[in-house]
Amino acid sequence: MYNYREVMTEISLDEFTAQGEAFLDAKASRKVVEEKFVWGNGSDVVGMFEEKDRNDELEDLKRACEWRAKKFDAGFGWISGPKAFGGRELPHAYQRAFDSLEGRFQVPNQSYFTIGLGMVAPTIAVHASQAAKEKYVAQMFRGDIVGCQLFSEPGAGSDLASLQTKAEKDGDVWVITGQKVWTSGAHYSDIGEVIARTDPDLPKHKGLTGFIVDMRDPAVEIRPLRQMTGGASFNEVFFNELRVPDDHRLGDVNNGWNVALTTLMNERAAIGAGGGGGGLLTRAIEMTRHFGLSDDPVTRQMLADVAIHQRVAGYNNQRAMDKIKAGGLPGPEMSIAKLAGTMNTRRLSDFVSHVLGAKMVADSGEWGTYAWSQLVVGAPGASIAGGSDEVMRNIVGERVLGLPKDTGIDSKSPFNELKVGTQKA
Ligand SMILES: Cc1cc2nc3c(=O)[nH]c(=O)nc-3n(C[C@H](O)[C@H](O)[C@H](O)COP(=O)(O)OP(=O)(O)OC[C@H]3O[C@@H](n4cnc5c(N)ncnc54)[C@H](O)[C@@H]3O)c2cc1C
Repeated sequence: MYNYREVMTEISLDEFTAQGEAFLDAKASRKVVEEKFVWGNGSDVVGMFEEKDRNDELEDLKRACEWRAKKFDAGFGWISGPKAFGGRELPHAYQRAFDSLEGRFQVPNQSYFTIGLGMVAPTIAVHASQAAKEKYVAQMFRGDIVGCQLFSEPGAGSDLASLQTKAEKDGDVWVITGQKVWTSGAHYSDIGEVIARTDPDLPKHKGLTGFIVDMRDPAVEIRPLRQMTGGASFNEVFFNELRVPDDHRLGDVNNGWNVALTTLMNERAAIGAGGGGGGLLTRAIEMTRHFGLSDDPVTRQMLADVAIHQRVAGYNNQRAMDKIKAGGLPGPEMSIAKLAGTMNTRRLSDFVSHVLGAKMVADSGEWGTYAWSQLVVGAPGASIAGGSDEVMRNIVGERVLGLPKDTGIDSKSPFNELKVGTQKA
């Protein structure tokens, strides 16, 4: 059990920060203080998704894992986590202090761990068997294994509880058969969190169970999905009678909906942390100046709208993140953060389309023009990932504003009876 007194006498925040800085100085280079952005200098790549060739991606991932291992071995890999699984049980303020220090150093891209550490590991830590917790949690935080989330199916996204992938008991193992879709990072992941149907006779939310699966098993087939940006960050995943030991079950049999909710609450917290293209605002302002539109009233009005909404989202996110860091659970305010982030990305996307017009449609080779098309075609994906804008609006309406509940597709409202009747005809 976490003992605050014992921890506080173990190391002071100042000592800890000094140790962290010494570690970072020994293992990484400090970032050069960023020079002012100048239009035409440096890379003009602007995109929602990293569009790496899958071989380059593996090299990048290797560097990311090596960095996590160094951090973990030095005691900075899971600062607030339980000692039993390799953490240090230090208060969240210590984690914040290290993150802020690390931000001043050049370290490998850590985005490969967003799903595994942000969503899958917290779910394993709560719902897995003791054996599975011991086997996976520390390894995930050390970067020895990477995790992905296998929830969505061709017929189950917003209405996740409709999923049809089935798991059937065969002695001490479960046999999983079915198809998942939109699985980010499945192609480089070692393990995955799956929700499958274990009792088709129970109401749909009640017949589900969670599992940890081995993504390298030959019974798991992974096929890339190419999105309209040209890249392939997602996959279709087929389970062809995959055998999973019972001690890799998450939670009780048929309690998978609660397991899924643990993951989804953490997902919104992980996604909602951004403000929606904040880092690109300076670039957009310089672009406006470059094209001589800084005195155009319509352009100025649109740009001000982008800047104001980003600032407001930033304050709201800060409030929500502070609540989590103070020990609170991610709540419905994460849906506001997620929604604001996607709306702001769309605002920015509309603004650059207004300024660039045809330059964004045809690649003339001119710096900082066609490159924005990656943001414009990537932005709609953000409105769907981790819960669509419409679903976020329902959550905010019901749980923040206290409005009447969405009728939902399973309810007996006359509107839904009408829909069902229409489908049958
Ligand atoms: C970038 C990206 C990454 C993703 N990564 C993963 C991943 O790693 N793992 C994973 O499991 N999934 C992943 N997904 C899938 C994602 O969770 C689903 O796409 C999402 O839940 C929506 O489901 P759907 O695509 O089936 O759309 P549907 O649920 O079919 O929705 C279609 C439309 O209907 C609307 N709609 C649905 N229900 C309602 C309602 N009650 N009220 C009003 N409107 C409604 C939606 O808003 C949407 O506009 C990812 C998706 C994207 C875009």
